[in-house]
Amino acid sequence: MAQIDSLPPLREVIDTHGLSAKKALGQNFLLDLNLTSRIARLAGDLTQCDVLEIGPGPGGLTRGLLACGARRVLAVEKDARCLPALAEIEAAYPGRLSVLNEDALDLDPLEHLTPPIRICANLPYNVGTELLVRWLTPAQWPAVWTSLTLMFQKEVAERITAKPGTKAYGRLAILAQWRCDARIEMILPPQAFSPAPKVSSAVVHLTALPQPRFPADPKVLNNVVAMAFNQRRKMLRSALKSLRPDIEDVLNGAGILPTRRAETLSLEEFCTLARAVA
Ligand code: SAM
Repeated sequence: MAQIDSLPPLREVIDTHGLSAKKALGQNFLLDLNLTSRIARLAGDLTQCDVLEIGPGPGGLTRGLLACGARRVLAVEKDARCLPALAEIEAAYPGRLSVLNEDALDLDPLEHLTPPIRICANLPYNVGTELLVRWLTPAQWPAVWTSLTLMFQKEVAERITAKPGTKAYGRLAILAQWRCDARIEMILPPQAFSPAPKVSSAVVHLTALPQPRFPADPKVLNNVVAMAFNQRRKMLRSALKSLRPDIEDVLNGAGILPTRRAETLSLEEFCTLARAVA
């Protein structure tokens, strides 16, 4: 396997800095630098971009991103034990890596970057979905980022890319596909990580669309979708009853049979319904 840089192998980095994995921080590390470089390449051409990475850990993906030519990487890591290992990477790539020892939920790291911005991360599973939802629901669209290349548990990746009529189809699919092209690019078995998690993982690549696929007020759409899927087994006329007393008329007016269930509605139909509700 080709060496991607002159820094020590990741196993050695972990031993040197005593980075035993902490479950509470979702620490499942990638130790194969060829694999992390492949993931970095899925993020596209990084040479003119600032890249945000959440949770660099010992720096496997960080090194992949820098070796792939990222203009600048901002890495936000909650675990202070990782800082010395990340400082070695900073020194090997002068002026191109900044590390923030923070909880990614407590700050808006996008404020520290210059567009165009791409986000690429092997996310900690306990905050991954929350971060994704935040990135998909900024105050203004287009968002400041142009793409997200994110590792999730495979089941979450399937929810992001799910199509109507499937069990995985729900709020996450609507949120993601309304404003992005989303596809699963890579599936990784548990053994790709150290320690191995219980389930497989997948890398999802989301490219921001210049404008949402169909017009709708984001708050209303979010509300309708959340209510509809909260009681996904119920017919829409019951699931959405508390939204408006005349919901049956609203559904009929939008050309949607009130007896249908949330998982049968296409993204376009949800947007039509959100406009009718608004
Ligand atoms: N990027 C590394 C890799 O691919 O090997 C580590 C990925 S590991 C799945 C997730 C990382 O996120 C860990 O390093 C963990 O300490 C960090 N982390 C967990 N919660 C975090 C949070 N709220 N904010 C920032 N980093 C967090």
